[in-house]
Amino acid sequence: VAPTRKFYVGGNWKMNGDKSMIDGIVAFMNQSGANPNVDVVVAPPAAYLCYAREHLNAGIQVAAQNCYKTAKGAFTGEISPAMIKDVGATWVILGHSERRHVFGESDELIAEKTVHALESGLGVIFCIGEKLDERQGDKTKEVCFRQLQAIVDKNVSWDKIVVAYEPVWAIGTGVTASPEQAQETHQWVRDFLKDKVSGDVANKTRILYGGSVTAENCQELAKKPDIDGFLVGGASLKADFVKIINARS
Ligand code: PGA
Repeated sequence: VAPTRKFYVGGNWKMNGDKSMIDGIVAFMNQSGANPNVDVVVAPPAAYLCYAREHLNAGIQVAAQNCYKTAKGAFTGEISPAMIKDVGATWVILGHSERRHVFGESDELIAEKTVHALESGLGVIFCIGEKLDERQGDKTKEVCFRQLQAIVDKNVSWDKIVVAYEPVWAIGTGVTASPEQAQETHQWVRDFLKDKVSGDVANKTRILYGGSVTAENCQELAKKPDIDGFLVGGASLKADFVKIINARS
C-alpha cells in the first residue's frame, strides 16, 4: 500500500547554537530547495524560538523542545504552550529520551504536558523508545506501548500528534536502527494505535524515526511503509538536513 501520510521531518537542535550559527542554518533552510510537500519543523532552544521564527521562511514550522503542563504561574525555569504559540511556534517535542532519562520525566508528567499542549493548540511530537538493555531484553514493544498508553489513558485527540520512535541506543551514537528494525517497531506502534485508539488514527498518524539519521542512511529508511519521516538531531544542524527532508523525493 502506497503511504498517503504527508512526510514529516523535524530538526531537533537540542542545546546547540547561538545567533551566528542560527544565521547559518536559516540561510541553508530558506534557500533549501526542499520538497514543499514535506512538513518541515525545526526545534531551536527556547532562548532562540523568537529569533529563529523571525528569520525562517514562513513555510518552515518551528517547535519548542519541551514545555510545562500549565499556562502560567510560579514554575521557575519553565515555558508554557501559550508562550510557545505567542512567539509563532506551532509544535512542541515531548517525551524526548533526554527529558525522560537525563531529567527524569515520568510517563505521567509527559502525558499531562501532552494534554495541555494539545488543548493549547500546539502540535506534539511525542517521542518514545527503548534503551539498549531493554532492546537486548526483548522489551522494545513493552516499553514503547507503555509510553504510548500514558497518552491513550488521557483520551487525547490524535490529529495533532506525530509519534517519533527513537531507540535510545541510536540517539547521538552513530548507530542507526536498521530499516528493518525501525519498520518492525513502527508497525507495532501502528497496530497499537489501531487496537487502542482506532483504525483511522492508525492510518493517519505519522510515525517518525529518530536516532543517528544522516543524509546517507535516510533514503533506505524512508522506503519503509510505516516510516513517515524523521526526527533528526545532529544532522539537522548541517546543510545535509535538506537531503534528509528530501529523502523520499
Ligand atoms: P541524533 O538525535 O539524530 O543526533 O541521533 C536524534 C534526536 O535525539 O532526536
